[in-house]
Amino acid sequence: MSMGKREHTLIPKPRSAFILVRCSRCNAERIVYSHSTRGIRCRQCNSLLVENTGGRAVIHAVEVNRFS
Ligand SMILES: [Zn+2]
Repeated sequence: MSMGKREHTLIPKPRSAFILVRCSRCNAERIVYSHSTRGIRCRQCNSLLVENTGGRAVIHAVEVNRFS
């Protein structure tokens, strides 16, 4: 599988969503993509917010809001 340029898709696939999460450690909020292929860390305390486990993103932070 090749990882090319990001597609400029305006409408995400139905099951994917952008999620506003709050870091459970420092309460910093940020928007993450539910189907992120990379782990996402908190910008403030560097704790792991989203972990990618073989194509499926696992959210460790508190889910505040979901934009689907
Ligand atoms: Zn944090």
